[in-house]
Amino acid sequence: MTTKITDEKISRLEELFASLPGLGPRSASRIVAELLTTRRPQAQRLCRDLSETLEAVHHCPRCHALTTRPMCVVCADQTRDKTVLCIVETPADLQAIESSVAYKGGYFVLMGRVNPLQAVGPEELGVNTLLERLDKEPIEEVVIATSYTPEGETTAHLLAGVIKKHKPQLKVTRLARGLPSGVEIEYTDAATIASAVAGRR
Ligand SMILES: [Zn+2]
Repeated sequence: MTTKITDEKISRLEELFASLPGLGPRSASRIVAELLTTRRPQAQRLCRDLSETLEAVHHCPRCHALTTRPMCVVCADQTRDKTVLCIVETPADLQAIESSVAYKGGYFVLMGRVNPLQAVGPEELGVNTLLERLDKEPIEEVVIATSYTPEGETTAHLLAGVIKKHKPQLKVTRLARGLPSGVEIEYTDAATIASAVAGRR
């Protein structure tokens, strides 16, 4: 018979880590054990940096990406192409497209995707801010880069409809189908993203 050794505070930490995306209970307890022993300096830095960032973080007023500055790095960059706007689901997708180096326009981060079961529609994804931007900025093309999952496809379809209705003269494209079906943009390699950006239609 095995007795499970439990320490309330340590277990709570393990549960917290295990609840994060991509981490199971096994890796969570390994991370906690390391943070509490060999990686104490990193643990202290994690506490400090996390609490400082939590205090300062907000959504960029222009693209909704997370930032600790008044405006995010991409939006503040004057050299970006202001005629193209790429719509992504998450900040991780934005990073993936940035690392492909194939795209130099602006972004809009939905921070999710349409989900009728959870009552998440275009409005919850900030579509009104998006439309305001289309009115104010010299945007000529909107590239919809939501994932090729059923929810991502639905989101793309709905957004394309709303954008076309709001501003019919805009060119609305979708990342080329080179991206594997059912796969999240953030897990796609840079070369594939680069060719998907080049082949958008
Ligand atoms: Zn921004």
